[in-house]
Amino acid sequence: MTTVAAYAAPAPKAPLERTTIERRDVGEFDVLIDIKYAGICHSDIHQAQEGWGEAIFPMVPGHEIAGVVAEVGPGVTKYRVGDRVGVGCMVDSCRECDNCKAGLEQYCTGGSGMVGTYNAVGKDGEPTHGGYSQKIVVDENYVVRIPDGLSLDEAAPLLCAGITLYSPLKHWGAGPGKKVAILGMGGLGHMGVKIAHALGAEVTVLSQSLRKKDDGLKLGADHYYATSDPETFEELAGSFDLIVSTVSAPLDFNACLGLLKTRGALVNVGAPEEPVALNLFSVIGGGKTLAGSMIGGIAETQEMLDFCAEHGFGAEIELIRADQINEAYERVVNSDVRYRFVIDTATI
Ligand code: NAP
Ligand code: ZN
Ligand code: ZN
Repeated sequence: MTTVAAYAAPAPKAPLERTTIERRDVGEFDVLIDIKYAGICHSDIHQAQEGWGEAIFPMVPGHEIAGVVAEVGPGVTKYRVGDRVGVGCMVDSCRECDNCKAGLEQYCTGGSGMVGTYNAVGKDGEPTHGGYSQKIVVDENYVVRIPDGLSLDEAAPLLCAGITLYSPLKHWGAGPGKKVAILGMGGLGHMGVKIAHALGAEVTVLSQSLRKKDDGLKLGADHYYATSDPETFEELAGSFDLIVSTVSAPLDFNACLGLLKTRGALVNVGAPEEPVALNLFSVIGGGKTLAGSMIGGIAETQEMLDFCAEHGFGAEIELIRADQINEAYERVVNSDVRYRFVIDTATI
C-alpha cells in the first residue's frame, strides 16, 4: 500500500478537504500513474452532494485523470514507465458479458456492472477513489494513451466530457449534411460543439442566454440561440436531425423535442437529480426518438483521444489549485465555468 495525498468530501454536502488515502500495491496487470491533472465534472458534484442517491464517504471524486506512468506490473504489455496516460469514469468491469466483449464496458451487465473510478467498490472489496489525488493504481485494460499532440491539462476533461459527447455524436450520425444542436454549453456541451464541428455537422448551441455566444462561435458553432427567449422555440421548430442535451438540471423535454425534424433524435446525457415530465405525444408526432447515452467504452475513448489530437484540440480549461475546489464547485453549479475546471494535482 502507498499513502497518497488527496482531496475528499468527508460527508455528503460537506466541503472537500485535504486528506490521505491508501492505494493498493501494483499488481501483475496494474499501472501506477502519477496524476498530473484532474478535471472537475458536474457528476463529481452530484455525487459529493448525494444528489443521485446514497454514496460512499469519504469520497475522493475525479474521473478525468491525466498523468504519467510511474511503475508497471510484471504482466503489463501496453504501457511503459514515462507514458502519458488517462483514466476516465471506470477502472474495471466484468470483462465477460456481451457488452464488455463488444467494447461497451460502460454498460457492463456482469456482476455489479462497471466499477466506477470513485464512489464504487472495486473487485478487492475496497472503495475506489478518484483523481483528486496524486497517484492511482489501475488495471492496464482501463487505461488509455494520451497522444503527444495533446497537453495533459487540456486532455484531462476529454476522459469524461469528451467521450460522453463523442460517443452519441458518432452513434447518431453527426456529420456533413446533419443539423446538430448542443443543449447547454458547459464542460460537456463545449466539447460537443468542438467534436460535432470537427465531424462536419452544422452546429447550433442552445444555451440559457447569449452570454457565451462569442465563445460558442469560436469553438465551431454555426449558430447560437438562447432558450430563455420563447421565439427560439418558434423559429427553430422542426430544425434538427440530432439534439444532444448536456443540461444538468430538469429540462422541458417536450419543448426541446419540438425542435427536431421528423424522425430526429434527442439524446440526453445530462443527469439531473430530479425526474422530468414527458408528454409522450412529443415523440409520437413526428416519429421522434428520445435516447440516452453514458460515457463510452475503452476502445472508443482511445479513438476519441486520437480524433481530438488529429483535429488539434483539447478542452477549454481554467487551471486551479486544490484549495479552490469548493469555490469551483459553486461556480459550476451557477453555470459559471469556461469551460472546465482542472486541478493541478501538484497543489494537493
Ligand atoms: P456543466 O459544466 O455544469 O454544464 C451544464 C450546462 O447545463 C451549464 O453550463 C448550462 O449551460 C446548462 N444548465 C445548467 N443548469 C441549467 C438549467 N437550470 N436550465 C437550463 N440549462 C442549464 O456540467 P457538465 O459537467 O457538462 O455535466 C452536465 C450534466 O451531464 C451533469 O448532470 C452531469 O452529471 C452529466 N454527465 C453525464 C454523463 C453521461 O455519461 N451521461 C457524463 C458526464 C456528465 P448554459 O449556461 O449554456 O445554459
Ligand atoms: Zn464526468
Ligand atoms: Zn461486463
